[in-house]
Amino acid sequence: MVEFHNVIDGRSVASPDTFASFNPATGECLGRVAISTPSQVQQALSAARRAQPAWAALPDATRQDHLLRVADILNANADHLAEWVTKEQGKPLGGLGTGQVPGARFELWGCEVWTRVPATIPLPVEVVFEDDTRRDELHRKPYGVIAAISPWNWPLMIAIWQIIPALRMGNTVVIKPSEFTSICSLEMFRLIAEQLPPGVLNTVSGDGTVGQLLVDTPAVDKVMFTGSGPTGAKIAAVAARHLTPTTMELGGNDAAIVLDDANPQQIAAGLFWGAFLNMGQTCAAIKRLYVPDSLHDAIVEALGEIAQALPMGNGLDPGICVGPIQNRKQFQIVSDLVEDAQRHGGRIVCGGQAPSGPGYFFPITLVTGLRDGHRLVDEEQFGPVLPIVRYHQIEDAIASANRAEAGLGASVWGGDPERARQVAMRLQAGTIWINQHGMVHPMVPFGGTKRSGWGVEFGVDGLKGVSQAQVLSFAKASH
Ligand code: NDP
Repeated sequence: MVEFHNVIDGRSVASPDTFASFNPATGECLGRVAISTPSQVQQALSAARRAQPAWAALPDATRQDHLLRVADILNANADHLAEWVTKEQGKPLGGLGTGQVPGARFELWGCEVWTRVPATIPLPVEVVFEDDTRRDELHRKPYGVIAAISPWNWPLMIAIWQIIPALRMGNTVVIKPSEFTSICSLEMFRLIAEQLPPGVLNTVSGDGTVGQLLVDTPAVDKVMFTGSGPTGAKIAAVAARHLTPTTMELGGNDAAIVLDDANPQQIAAGLFWGAFLNMGQTCAAIKRLYVPDSLHDAIVEALGEIAQALPMGNGLDPGICVGPIQNRKQFQIVSDLVEDAQRHGGRIVCGGQAPSGPGYFFPITLVTGLRDGHRLVDEEQFGPVLPIVRYHQIEDAIASANRAEAGLGASVWGGDPERARQVAMRLQAGTIWINQHGMVHPMVPFGGTKRSGWGVEFGVDGLKGVSQAQVLSFAKASH
């Protein structure tokens, strides 16, 4: 059985204990993964600490060159890594062409783009004040050592979102992937670390207890966390003990509101993939869909038609568009929410029943007849099921969208962009998309409000999030 190890200080490091990682489509054991020991977590942090001053002292252009080499290596290994993502995470290989479902190949494309862009975004020194007496410059300095903890839904892309901006700004990194997607992650980290000086990128692996060891220490200068709210709360509490700043990218319960001037046929595909990209296991996916009475039936029908045309199966097989849910716990959450919806008057339009056989397969499921207060509407399903909720007055839909504790994304769909904008401006979320959903971009800041977290990633603001402001204040010679 192949064993996957960590990289610490540029060397491959095995651990005395390992755990198995499984293919969620077949149940097949894919290999064994090192469980980092407490002393290995410390070694990783020490290696990052030793490497950091020299890495930060490099000219920005040299760090950029290193990171562009990382982008090249991701490109050269895209097929190899995409196959691991499909085997371990479950999303279909897919592709990028017309009619292709954005799957593992899309994730690898995203990794490359989200490396090239933050590697090269200009970040000049800002002159924040100047008069006859003084000149004040704002510089950006690295935090030092960044601990990153990533989830299993987009395991490689989200890790890249954490790693690359941090490195660009002169930090060094220790990252722990989710235990459910450790093999694909460690494979990518190994390839990246080979392009960097020893100690600049280090990895540890294991379950949440290893994650806890990584953050519960004064040896970390900033924590980047992407995952669920409950885990985020635990990490924030631990980090607070050490006064370690954090960026928290947490769960969402994104509402999409369709306005009554929308064209159901025109928006159906956008709504569908806004909800079901990666089998709905996407932080900023549509998780509640509010539609006006007048369009309810037409939208339900259009979404149902798309759902039923998509083959579900092992994502390595050609033509498969829908893969399994990634793990048993998530499969159980989705199954429970669908059962609860049915018990409380929800009508299953399509899907609703897991097929027999191996794998955590659950079909694309549309549920009507629910209201706010039903669990499937109020809780994050993070899976291939969407409640479609009728509304009578737009004021009600806005109030419904805003009653969630989460505030990651939201969207408004309609024929008149100005009318859509007026509604969008009243929604509470980090991003409100209009006639699209979840369309993140490496130049556009992304982050949550309310209980979806704090801090943003991407673009100039993302680089600022992994660096600290430092002011150089000059007195002018005449004074
Ligand atoms: P979890 O919170 O369960 O896990 C996230 C990471 O934290 C994993 O690496 C996990 O390790 C680790 N972890 C668990 N316990 C601890 C601990 N006590 N201390 C430190 N680390 C710990 O989230 P999921 O992986 O289940 O991801 C799904 C959630 O993430 C959803 O709510 C989703 O909305 C959210 N998400 C948010 C995004 C955003 O940008 N806002 C993007 C993507 C997902 P292990 O898995 O090994 O237990």
